Amino acid sequence: MTIKKALFLGAQILKKITDVSFLESEILLAKVLNLSRSKLYTSENLILSLEQQHEYQKLLEERTTGKPLAYIINKKDFWNISLDINKNVLIPRSETELLVEEILNRTSEKERKVVLDLGTGSGAIAISLAYERSNWQIIGSDKSIAALDIARKNALKYKLSNISFEQGDWFEPFQDKLFDVIVSNPPYIKSSDPHFNGEIRFEPIIALDGGKQGMDKLSGIIRNAPRYLGKNSLLIVEHGYNQAKEVYALFELSGFKQIDILQDLAGLERATLGYLS
Ligand code: GLN
Repeated sequence: MTIKKALFLGAQILKKITDVSFLESEILLAKVLNLSRSKLYTSENLILSLEQQHEYQKLLEERTTGKPLAYIINKKDFWNISLDINKNVLIPRSETELLVEEILNRTSEKERKVVLDLGTGSGAIAISLAYERSNWQIIGSDKSIAALDIARKNALKYKLSNISFEQGDWFEPFQDKLFDVIVSNPPYIKSSDPHFNGEIRFEPIIALDGGKQGMDKLSGIIRNAPRYLGKNSLLIVEHGYNQAKEVYALFELSGFKQIDILQDLAGLERATLGYLS
């Protein structure tokens, strides 16, 4: 079977699970053949070995179970980095880039900042910031040792010396520390949310489940953050599209000023930030 035929058949099989079936079949075949996607086109008539054909078929079948593509290829692009991921970390979402973008827009290259990324997972936010701001000091924390293994590996890949990681439950490892920026994409989905039966069932529940109303972790972070923030500091959190009002109220109650609700590219209220003077 040629590459061209394999792509066509793969796309047919993936149609029932994704709208971008051709693209996904390219990505899977590129992985099997260890070629870039563009190279597939210049080698359209190349014949797959039987072994390659079987491997490709196996990946297509995995994908049809609903397993996210990112967990099959163990990679996900975020901001301008490429992260290694596995089932122990949430797949970084494009809407989370909003947090990185906003922090960069609201600070200048020259100011030196110490930043804490709470619940760093794959390290997506922390590593993007460390990559963009070489003079900052970034700390990523997570309760999950398996997540920290991946985050450290990702940081190492980019040879970043301005980032470190701590294991622990939210603020627990940072008792006497003060930060200029605290950022977090905590679990914020309601325990009863039907989405837990969809593709997110493949992702770690610890990274998604925010308790009965989805607010448990968000409210803990917003209430406790002032104790760990220095002068002229910033807190920014991601939240569900219908949690902005409640999050805003929590920011106000905790003494934050110049509070802003931010919309993602889909126009949903996806993050909130506030300053502490
Ligand atoms: N944005 C993710 C989703 O909707 C949830 C991420 C989170 O809980 N932090 O699947």
